[in-house]
Amino acid sequence: MAEHLASIFGTEKDRVNCPFYFKIGACRHGDRCSRLHNRPTISPTLVLSNMYQRPDMITPGVDAQGQPIDPAKIQEHFEDFYEDIFEELSKFGEIETLNICDNLADHMIGNVYVQFKEEDQAAAALQALQGRYYSGRPIIGDFSPVTDFREATCRQYEENNCNRGGYCNFMHVKMIGRELRRKLFGRYSRRSMRGRSRSRSVSPPQYYHRRDKERERDHDRRDHRGRRGGGDRHGDRHEGERRRHGGTSRRSRSPVREGSEERRARIEQWNREREEKGQ
Ligand SMILES: [Zn+2]
Ligand SMILES: [Zn+2]
Repeated sequence: MAEHLASIFGTEKDRVNCPFYFKIGACRHGDRCSRLHNRPTISPTLVLSNMYQRPDMITPGVDAQGQPIDPAKIQEHFEDFYEDIFEELSKFGEIETLNICDNLADHMIGNVYVQFKEEDQAAAALQALQGRYYSGRPIIGDFSPVTDFREATCRQYEENNCNRGGYCNFMHVKMIGRELRRKLFGRYSRRSMRGRSRSRSVSPPQYYHRRDKERERDHDRRDHRGRRGGGDRHGDRHEGERRRHGGTSRRSRSPVREGSEERRARIEQWNREREEKGQ
């Protein structure tokens, strides 16, 4: 019996625990859900609810005045945010995964998931974020049960064919460009390659790197959500990304991004807002 319960924990068959909360760390029923949301008291993963405010919040691709926004501008806005939050969170420890949802439903819109290497790093970050504001809104942080982002992520979205759109209940993880990924996660590559295989057992290694291997292994195998392995468009892109990873001679060809000075100024602003609110 106990074995049976363990095998169905957090699945559709589990009538007690909510499978959505367990797998994705967010459920559209929120506190009114008929099944249990077991909030972890400690976890390497934090969720910062609804933190990213997209410029096209009301209708995707369109601003508040109804004018279309250049997709490149939307991406730039997103990457500025991604870099801000990465730099801020990385003060507390090595970031394994930083995922920001592109979903539109209230319980997932703008959610930021950060998985640290260690639980105590997540705890320190959560403590430091308590009472802080970003862009004038309080940061709502919590430990998240998600440790395996492959289970939480919508593969159809990655393949550009999720027919549930923004209201899908699986994570639609917004992608950052290769340059930014290399800039942010590249700092870990050498160190983590050495330590990883022997010391890591609980939380999975950095998601995007591992996913390539998973895809190779999953080749020709489909699961219930129609995942595909092998050489799809995204897989190929990541493969190329990984090969170039660590190359130091190559200069960035992307347009000049906002300088780190401006970014630091914005982070200062976070702290000022915190003081002004008397937290
Ligand atoms: Zn639920
Ligand atoms: Zn989806």
